[in-house]
Amino acid sequence: MNPGDEFYFELKTFLEKYPNLPVNDIIEAVKRINVDYEQRKDQNIKKSKRVTKKYDSEEERKTAYKIQQNNYAKKNWKCDVCDVEMYLGNKSKHLLSKKHLKNEVGNGDCPTCSDSN
Ligand SMILES: [Zn+2]
Repeated sequence: MNPGDEFYFELKTFLEKYPNLPVNDIIEAVKRINVDYEQRKDQNIKKSKRVTKKYDSEEERKTAYKIQQNNYAKKNWKCDVCDVEMYLGNKSKHLLSKKHLKNEVGNGDCPTCSDSN
């Protein structure tokens, strides 16, 4: 049953229960059911948001992200090619460094000239 049907179903149930109700009372009842329905709809939206949204504010999310990044960056990482240890945060920078590229090719040969030699 979709939420719209739910509203009409409640209204129908109510009218069947009180068939001789004055029109004004029916209108009041419809308003009340509608309010209940809107509130329930809101609650459902809030509930589903709570599931997908992990942090209450953008600021909180950023802080959590930073903490996560810092923890990641402070882990040690060892470059087997150069036999050096460093913070994981420096890994990508190191992998592009001349020192590392030299060591990777081996014996300090120029990586671009080694073919022609
Ligand atoms: Zn290296």
